Amino acid sequence: MATHTTRMLIVGSGPAGLTAAIYGARAGMQPIVVQGLQPGGQLTITTDVENYPGFRDVIQGPWLMQEMQAQAEHVGTRMIWDTIVDLDLSGPPFRAFGDSGDVYEGETLVIATGAQARWLGVPGEQELGGKGVSACATCDGFFYRGKKVVVIGGGNTAVEEALYLTNHSPDVTVIHRRDSFRAEKILQDRLFAHPAVKVAWNKVVNRFVGDPAAGGLTAVEVVDTLTGETSLIETDGAFVAIGHAPATALFQGKLELDGSGYIVVTPGTPKTSIPGVFACGDVMDHTYRQAVTAAGTGCMAALDAERFVAEREFALGRETAVPA
Ligand code: FAD
Ligand code: NAP
Repeated sequence: MATHTTRMLIVGSGPAGLTAAIYGARAGMQPIVVQGLQPGGQLTITTDVENYPGFRDVIQGPWLMQEMQAQAEHVGTRMIWDTIVDLDLSGPPFRAFGDSGDVYEGETLVIATGAQARWLGVPGEQELGGKGVSACATCDGFFYRGKKVVVIGGGNTAVEEALYLTNHSPDVTVIHRRDSFRAEKILQDRLFAHPAVKVAWNKVVNRFVGDPAAGGLTAVEVVDTLTGETSLIETDGAFVAIGHAPATALFQGKLELDGSGYIVVTPGTPKTSIPGVFACGDVMDHTYRQAVTAAGTGCMAALDAERFVAEREFALGRETAVPA
């Protein structure tokens, strides 16, 4: 069992954590990134990324994250493959306890543990993931220009995704398990008024139909909850929009979380309910959930963390320890 100490401890190695690391390292914070079970984060499970600025050609998600990690390491970040299983936030220093038995101590803590889309868990969903089945219209809608798509869900996300998809698709069907949406009325009004949108009420998705090796998704099989009748809705793309789960189980009872489990920050900042503890990326953002917004808030977290440490060291009369 080892204790690793740093001026900036970062938990999570997606775009938010790695951007925080790049800024932190360049500010002399000698950051440590604890990577977690998904080094590189969510983008490592996708293929084409077309909306991350700086690349005119389509790039691959895993490649982008490898480059981000290489950049973070190049400027002085230490990457550690471990998963945090417990925390002591009574500091500074803040302590994080790894699954390996190692302890990580940071003068400041940046939380970038992300969020995961909720999936239906029905046959075909996993096999056709990235081959017609997606959980992000902003990311993948562009690939369905002129094609038929469906959106599954009835909350704000589902309705917003459906409206977004009308920018690309002339035929958008929202499949919902009940006969009314929980989305805000103003969004519903826009949806119902849109000529490209239909709603399949009282339908539960049974399975996704298609061949992952040849053409991908072709249809969604649904069951009518009132009649029990099974039918197929032909489609080229299906967007599952039944909510996201932020990776915040660790912080329950330790940091302020909102009703959906996201970390609460002071609006417009990455500041959490504990001074010196910052949150960035999808773990504090249920609205935008993009790689570039995660990177942006990662930058903000590192800048604020650096200020926090500098002010504290000044108050304690300590010299700022600039690395050799
Ligand atoms: P994440 O990328 O979720 O990273 C979280 C990190 O935290 C991971 O490294 C994980 O291992 C770590 N972690 C979690 N718990 C612990 C723990 N206890 N201890 C240590 N580490 C921990 N966005 C776009 O902008 N463009 C796209 O084209 C695009 N396509 C996407 C395709 C798919 C299939 C998915 C799922 C998402 C896509 N997104 C896209 C969204 C984008 O990936 C996310 O918005 C972004 O990755 C969020 O970054 P993050 O750093 O906040 O968190
Ligand atoms: P949500 O509000 O929890 O809605 C999830 C939807 O998916 C519900 O309609 C639910 O159906 C359905 N659903 C859940 N599990 C399902 C399953 N297994 N099979 C079929 N359908 C299922 O999630 P969200 O829409 O992602 O929103 C999350 C939070 O973010 C909310 O607080 C929302 O207001 C907020 N948000 C806000 C904005 C905005 O302000 N513009 C945008 C996006 C999200 P039921 O209705 O039957 O339960």
